[in-house]
Amino acid sequence: WHRTLFRNQYRRIPVTPAPFSLDGKLALVTGAGSGIGAETARQFAALGARVLAADIDPDTAAATVNAIGGGAEAVALDVASADDWSRVYSTIERDHGRLHVLVNNAGIMMSARFEAAPLATLHRQQAINVDSLYAGMQGALPLLRAARAAGAETTAIINVSSVYGMVAGAQFAAYSATKGAVRGLSRAVAYELAKEGIRVNTVLPGPVATNLGADWEPPVDAEGKLIPPEVALAAWASLIPMGRLGEPRDIAPLIAFLASDAARFVTGAEFVADGGYTAA
Ligand code: NAD
Repeated sequence: WHRTLFRNQYRRIPVTPAPFSLDGKLALVTGAGSGIGAETARQFAALGARVLAADIDPDTAAATVNAIGGGAEAVALDVASADDWSRVYSTIERDHGRLHVLVNNAGIMMSARFEAAPLATLHRQQAINVDSLYAGMQGALPLLRAARAAGAETTAIINVSSVYGMVAGAQFAAYSATKGAVRGLSRAVAYELAKEGIRVNTVLPGPVATNLGADWEPPVDAEGKLIPPEVALAAWASLIPMGRLGEPRDIAPLIAFLASDAARFVTGAEFVADGGYTAA
């Protein structure tokens, strides 16, 4: 009885030699001009995917594509613009007819004390970090379904949240609100789409050295003196059990795994990569 019920467990299924591959997959990665998105685009291409590297800054997207070499295209996309999303999806429909993977990575992080931050701070981050997922995921569905109809085992959406959607950080109230929203939205959409083989998962990076926050005011001490960069960095790294900030290459392989069919049974889930920050 048990053997009939769990037939697959008793069948010798050949093991795929590589842990996973993205061969034959078309992937759209947003915010691919810098940081985690650029590294994700690079690793996707190395794993065999054809990558559409999208960014609001077309020059940086083009730089990512040049660094990759063949098998990638730059796409100009402001993720906060519903019109941009429909233009991009019309082009993908025309040129490829389907899409296997969407990585909603583009995001901004504004830093301000809660008491001093106007509501506009929340709205701006909401538009780029959350509204973008709404338009991006809704628009992708016909193309993801087309990929499934053409034989793809699964298709995948990976949304990039943050550990600050999980725990508090100094002066990140509005950012935390948007990254918490990413988690709730991802789970709900995953639940609705699970039966169709469209998987939706969330990645929560800890502090990673990228261009995020490059436009913030440099920190000052109690006397108003500039805190030297190496002191600020050491203070930040000391909060992380592994003793260092993350790098984009610490996050990209997790996104690549979730994009692949090796993660075929993984949906509605959340994955932290933070050097132990939230565990502490
Ligand atoms: P980054 O600033 O290096 O890269 C972000 C990219 O997104 C840039 O190329 C930027 O041009 C692009 N972008 C910004 N607004 C856009 C828009 N409206 N439309 C399209 N592209 C836009 O930052 P990163 O650290 O690589 O951030 C990537 C994601 O990771 C973000 O969602 C961020 O919130 C998240 N994250 C970062 C960290 C970190 O410490 N760096 C930690 C947790 C989560």
